[in-house]
Amino acid sequence: MTEPTDRLSLYRRFRPQRFGEVVGQDLVVATLRRAVAGGKLGHAYLLSGQRGVGKTSVARILARAVNCQAPEAGEPCNRCESCQRIVAGRSLDVVEIDGASNRGVDQIRRLREEAAYVPAGSRYKVYIIDEVHMLTGEAFNALLKTLEEPPPHVLFIFATTEPHKVPATVVSRCQAFEFQPIADDAIAQVLHKVAEAERIDLAPGAAELIARRSRGALRDALVVLDQLGQAGEVTEEAVVDLLGLPPLSQVDGFLDALAGRDADRALAIVAELSTRGRDLALFLEETATRARDRIIAGEPGLIPIARSVIELRGELSRAFSRRLHVEMAIVALCGPPQRGEPRPAPTREASLPPSAAASSSPPPPLGGGTPEAPEAKPAAPLTEAWRAMLESMLTERTAVAAFLSPAEVTWADGLLTIRLPPDCGYHYESLLDPAVRSYVEATAHKFFNPLLAVQLAWAGGNHRPTLEEGARILAEALEGRILREGDDGSR
Ligand SMILES: [Zn+2]
Repeated sequence: MTEPTDRLSLYRRFRPQRFGEVVGQDLVVATLRRAVAGGKLGHAYLLSGQRGVGKTSVARILARAVNCQAPEAGEPCNRCESCQRIVAGRSLDVVEIDGASNRGVDQIRRLREEAAYVPAGSRYKVYIIDEVHMLTGEAFNALLKTLEEPPPHVLFIFATTEPHKVPATVVSRCQAFEFQPIADDAIAQVLHKVAEAERIDLAPGAAELIARRSRGALRDALVVLDQLGQAGEVTEEAVVDLLGLPPLSQVDGFLDALAGRDADRALAIVAELSTRGRDLALFLEETATRARDRIIAGEPGLIPIARSVIELRGELSRAFSRRLHVEMAIVALCGPPQRGEPRPAPTREASLPPSAAASSSPPPPLGGGTPEAPEAKPAAPLTEAWRAMLESMLTERTAVAAFLSPAEVTWADGLLTIRLPPDCGYHYESLLDPAVRSYVEATAHKFFNPLLAVQLAWAGGNHRPTLEEGARILAEALEGRILREGDDGSR
């Protein structure tokens, strides 16, 4: 057993020691191996790519390979005196410099002076400069002088996450290699391998989740495994908790719900996420990523849904309530919910104020917070019935009530006409859904008597409302109530 205090991190212990062990950079590694094996080395290499993809590991392997006393097809043997000395950090001929903290011209001048001397006991003097883009302009100029006339025994290996910040004059004197983000399944494979070696019980879903969230950086994935693996077991739940991620089953469930236009299910998932305090933006990112994977795996039907999800994610930064924004988008994508919304019934003060409905104007927005008038005059039968109908709907099907609230109603000869104002095209379209219509009709029959028919009308023209418009309208209608529920409006 290893003591937690002096144990090396998993990432360090499982750092690749040979080119063949490097994950996900096949082209880079093959080219370098060939160069070493064929004795056709350049004087300077520029390794670029995002963090955590193996640049430093490859630089160190290369430093050993070029100095190895018994190389094997371009690979360092890792056993000879030279390899051992370098591994132990005792070699005077392999120098690692952190460009971020040694960025000045003095350091580079010193390096140039040293570089002029022949190696102490190796074939090559190797200078590995990490984060080379951090060097000052003066330092780059000094470096350039060495690069222009490189001593034959010197090898420079530069690593950078931001190659565009390295002067073109320097880049042009290097052999440049671009490291790719490592594929999710390759990362998951490494995680399983490491877990097995470490006797960590790693759930497949957990590995997949860690891999996906590390965004191509193997190092990040191993750090997460290290953190969670101390207990000997890594479950999907533990990853979810550590990273605040949604489990894959939930992401898939959400996608399936959207694809099947099942607003109830999608809204239930959003409600669950909100209850647990999950970040909806992160959830949508995960959903979009997952949609991409499923599209690639042969579900082209998800393309429009993926687009909507990405669009929605972009809108969230401007939303006053993320949850509300997402809910409205779901309703816009799927149509209104069929069995009522999953959130608890609104409180009394959130319902339509009775006094407001007594006026002849259309009912005010839901939850408008109009103060209750003392003992309102008896309302006209029409508005009284309409108000009661909306109020009853509000507890059953909030969205439908919200769609109906701006309507003007007339009732004559057994015909109830519900007319939506011109700016409520979205409301109107939503109410045309057959299931919603029959719900409205059935409810109307309870409040209007005799009722022979319900007519839905819209005073608007041919303007087709957009998703965003619909979300905005509904958001406005529901605003007061939702915020009182203690929603995440501040996020
Ligand atoms: Zn060796």
